Amino acid sequence: MTQAHAERAHALLSASGADRWINCPPSARLTENIPDTRSEYANEGTAAHELSELILRRRITPCNSKERLRLDKAVSQFQKSNSYYGFEMNDAVADYVEIVEERFMAAKARTADAIVLLEERLDLTEWVPDAFGTGDVILIADGVLEIIDLKYGKGVPVSAIDNPQIRLYALGAWHAYGFLYDIQEIHMTIVQPRLDSVSTDIMSIDELLAWAETTVKPAATLAYAGEGEYLSGSHCKWCKVKATCRARADANMEAISHEFQDPALMTLEEVGSILHIAEQLKAWAKDVEDYAFEQAKAGHSVQGWKLVEGRSNRAIIDKDIARKTFEAATIELDKYLKPRELLGIGELEKQIGKKELSGLIGDLIFKPPGKPVLVPEIDKRPELNSVEQDFAGEDFG
Ligand code: SF4
Repeated sequence: MTQAHAERAHALLSASGADRWINCPPSARLTENIPDTRSEYANEGTAAHELSELILRRRITPCNSKERLRLDKAVSQFQKSNSYYGFEMNDAVADYVEIVEERFMAAKARTADAIVLLEERLDLTEWVPDAFGTGDVILIADGVLEIIDLKYGKGVPVSAIDNPQIRLYALGAWHAYGFLYDIQEIHMTIVQPRLDSVSTDIMSIDELLAWAETTVKPAATLAYAGEGEYLSGSHCKWCKVKATCRARADANMEAISHEFQDPALMTLEEVGSILHIAEQLKAWAKDVEDYAFEQAKAGHSVQGWKLVEGRSNRAIIDKDIARKTFEAATIELDKYLKPRELLGIGELEKQIGKKELSGLIGDLIFKPPGKPVLVPEIDKRPELNSVEQDFAGEDFG
């Protein structure tokens, strides 16, 4: 892991935390002394960024033969020695690189002078005190500045639409290059290859600057000073005090105490609002439970609760001896061995590679329609209209 990638600076008001501190400015100072716990997922993401940069430098930036050789060696060294590297990372990075190359080609088609910049450190201090960010890819061509961000994770889908983090990167890129090039339009793209997701938001530079002045600057000033109102919401998901925050607890308790009027049975409209509250409460309950568990494991007493041994299953101490014993007793194989079966598609992709798998058995893979699920209105999937039209002939059993 290179220093540059591993040490992407985390200022008090980091771009990655912007959704949180813009919505809840005092969260910044409240959490500033709580150490970051760097997860395996974050390390894996850092490795994917490192590999992507090497490949993109080799493929789309001008380099002489000596530099090409150096980059080729660096890629093969990475593939040999990086513990996170495997088919899955190889495929995801290849998909991302392909998308960046396509965007760069499109930029070059608009003007031969298209510029590409990789891993640029971006100064955001014009709007956010002490803040810097890193732009994975910046393309500038014909009045358009495009910023592309790789999200390697697949746990939480991330969209570029209304995304404060990528908007801040775009501001930083405009700040660095806006005086050299006449930039009118900003394209912000997030590629999340392991979810097959590419999303782009487009704003004029005037709209972006207006957002920076009216939303970012006031929130950043409050956040830096440790002032402003606590506000809970979906942004709490990444907050370091999400389990113990009183404002979040108060908001959730208030939501529970909502009283419905007569008649005795709730309307579907009321059921709809309860479902929203239930989602919020489930997430909060899980955060509090995880926190209490960690505290109890660390030896702290959580009033009214205790740590006990969980249930466990019996296990065979030595499977080789057990197997030989069954053989000696001439027990039929299928009475003590599991049948061998194919791995699931996700695991096959991991082991064999997405493209390789598709080449081998692509025509044997099909995706059946999913079971109907109830989701909030804002979900991007099209609505299933009626039982008669959409569920006709489907067996969801
Ligand atoms: S948990 Fe939510 S409400 Fe509480 S400080 Fe963090 S972001 Fe603000």
